[in-house]
Amino acid sequence: MPCWGCRAKSYNTKSVQKTGNEKNKNQSNLKNKPENNELGCAANISAKNISAGEYDYDLVVIGGGSGGLAAAKEATALGAKVAVLDYVTPSPIGTKWGLGGTCVNVGCIPKKLMHQAALLGESIHDAKSYGWQIGDNVSHSWESLRDAIQAHIKSVNWVTRVELRDKKVEYINGLGTFKDAHTVQTVTKQGERNLTARYFLIAVGGRPKYSNIPGALEYGITSDDIFSLNRVPGKTIIVGAGYIGLECAGFLKGLGYDATVMIRSVPLRGFDQQMAGIIVEEMRDKGVKFLHKCLPKSVEKLDSGKLKVSWVNEASEEFNDEFDTILFAIGRRALTKELNLENAGVKIAGDGEKIDAVNEQTNVSHIFAVGDVLYKKPELTPVAIHAGRLLARRLFGNSTINMDYDNVATTIFTPLEYGCVGISEEVAIKRYGEDNIEVYHGYYKPTEFFIPQKSIVHCYLKVVALREGDQKVLGLHFIGPQAGEVIQGFAAALKCNLTVNALMSTVGIHPTIAEEFTRINITKRSGKDPNPASCCS
Ligand code: FAD
Ligand code: NAP
Repeated sequence: MPCWGCRAKSYNTKSVQKTGNEKNKNQSNLKNKPENNELGCAANISAKNISAGEYDYDLVVIGGGSGGLAAAKEATALGAKVAVLDYVTPSPIGTKWGLGGTCVNVGCIPKKLMHQAALLGESIHDAKSYGWQIGDNVSHSWESLRDAIQAHIKSVNWVTRVELRDKKVEYINGLGTFKDAHTVQTVTKQGERNLTARYFLIAVGGRPKYSNIPGALEYGITSDDIFSLNRVPGKTIIVGAGYIGLECAGFLKGLGYDATVMIRSVPLRGFDQQMAGIIVEEMRDKGVKFLHKCLPKSVEKLDSGKLKVSWVNEASEEFNDEFDTILFAIGRRALTKELNLENAGVKIAGDGEKIDAVNEQTNVSHIFAVGDVLYKKPELTPVAIHAGRLLARRLFGNSTINMDYDNVATTIFTPLEYGCVGISEEVAIKRYGEDNIEVYHGYYKPTEFFIPQKSIVHCYLKVVALREGDQKVLGLHFIGPQAGEVIQGFAAALKCNLTVNALMSTVGIHPTIAEEFTRINITKRSGKDPNPASCCS
């Protein structure tokens, strides 16, 4: 199997050395290709389909975020002529940012840095018990943290632009809309442009939603604004208990701000609910407040400058309190309306927002989609990147490898992190029946927690497996420090059909927390006490 560099070479040779005859043959092939074929035809279109000169570009990517940039860079490496359009519409309070998409500017990266800042606050406290002489007047500066994070983001924006230039990807800072199935229109500082291409990739991602209540848009902020907020957040209420709601509440509390989470139904819906419950308990122990089964009703600005937030509970009882900040974390809207998809004939999925695609191919055979814009696919950066790269290889590198969206590992960066891969206990029971499932579980004591006497009551893990034979592992769930780092390696093992037998015969690394997965031996069914006897038992 040739390396990608060699494939790139062979692609180049093909496209450059194409004879007149070959060109005609390819063009007639394409003419016969239906523009609006049924979903289901795999995107295994090889490089030889490309004929130079017919269109301005081989590929135009709309959206310069995780998925779009990965696909664009891979496609140019394989010899394609590629343009990327990226444009950020400012948030309702005017926040805007540069090239790179959500992850870099207002997502994973600033979030992880704020999470790290909060963890360091905990570590300063722990350090005293490890002998570090630290005064009592330790304080935190929101402004310094925000400025450091924004400086880092700007440097990434810059590096991304340079990388695109070096890799010969044309970057166009403009909003793209479809004019027809082979033309995207945009307006840049230089004026209007029409770009024609053989293939298009929709990688527009999404933006946060706001509750439809009075005052939400005027006074509310979202994750688009928090990481560059030009004032301290102060006492904050967070509406929504998904990834973003819990992560933001976690780092805000860790940085010293009063944080309240308003939950509409259950926390982390879709995740293993035992683990979600433990996360909420842990956050509560750390001082985060929770309003269960409540919905916001209105936001009003008082003369004092504070926000009066009203909400109702399940019994329709109304409550209110004053806050400095209200942050909506109630999910994200895919940016498809802005694309004029009807001009290209691309259909929207049943939810009215996202695009359904089989192997990233939309109902229009030469228009593809990756990332958060895809219907019923995980909204995660590595998913967008992986799908984008694989697609580019199929389009321009003769590859036939499709994206596998199953068993994607993920981590919620709450104060005590929750990492998981595979299915939850409830999904396993529903899918296979309770009698056919074995759940191993255990509490554990991280060695690092002993000296500062940190609470270990929420350090918990479980393995969901089939009961028969070697007990194929269906899901791994871990709550503890560095859960993301722990679960990443086990995700590879799960892809290789990990069994409980194999886990139990793996020799651990001591003293680590990841070794706990190799020590599991208590099943829920046995009813035995899952608490550890000692650190080395
Ligand atoms: P995006 O990265 O959103 O990029 C789309 C780009 O297209 C944007 O720049 C947008 O402005 C632009 N655009 C939109 N419409 C047009 C148009 N018509 N013309 C031109 N440009 C357009 N994922 C993780 O894996 N780990 C995490 O820890 C994590 N944390 C997150 C924290 C937060 C607060 C948020 C909001 C998200 C987080 N995510 C995380 C999710 C992750 O950021 C997304 O899954 C990922 O960025 C999706 O990539 P994408 O390419 O689909 O879209
Ligand atoms: P989310 O995980 O879908 O959570 C949305 C939350 O808002 C849910 O608790 C939901 O409650 C609630 N909600 C929805 N509509 C509401 C309304 N009208 N009023 C009150 N509450 C409402 O969405 P998110 O937290 O905004 O995150 C978006 C995506 O970004 C995630 O799916 C994730 O893939 C990605 N992300 C990943 C990471 C990570 O990898 N660490 C971090 C952040 C974000 P119900 O359950 O009742 O619907």
